[in-house]
Amino acid sequence: MTSIRRRVLETLRAAGKPLGAYDVLAQLNAAGLPAQPPAAYRALDFLVSEGFAHKLSSRRAYVACDHPDEAHVAAFMICRRCDLTIETSVAARPGPLDEAASAAGFAIERTVLEAEGVCAGCREGPAA
Ligand SMILES: [Zn+2]
Ligand SMILES: [Zn+2]
Repeated sequence: MTSIRRRVLETLRAAGKPLGAYDVLAQLNAAGLPAQPPAAYRALDFLVSEGFAHKLSSRRAYVACDHPDEAHVAAFMICRRCDLTIETSVAARPGPLDEAASAAGFAIERTVLEAEGVCAGCREGPAA
């Protein structure tokens, strides 16, 4: 892995919450790595395609994968109040979506499930 890819992955891991490409870039620059936006996007695309990170379409943001060594469908619970993002382990097994895809002749390469709601900490706190 090239150093920019590794730095991007470390940045995502350290954040512990979804980061947009420009947040990642700002952190790289703050850490003294003069990365340009195309390089950051290429690094993020690489990490997503290799399974080291996932892209959250609903937020145009990226998170580091918690278990990159297992084949899995990424499923996230995202707190709309504090941005806490929890990746759950969903086994990669054929489901209704796969059946619909094969009926349509569509080859699924990646599936990301995103559930938005309120985390335990925020539910206990004062009502927003
Ligand atoms: Zn994952
Ligand atoms: Zn929360």
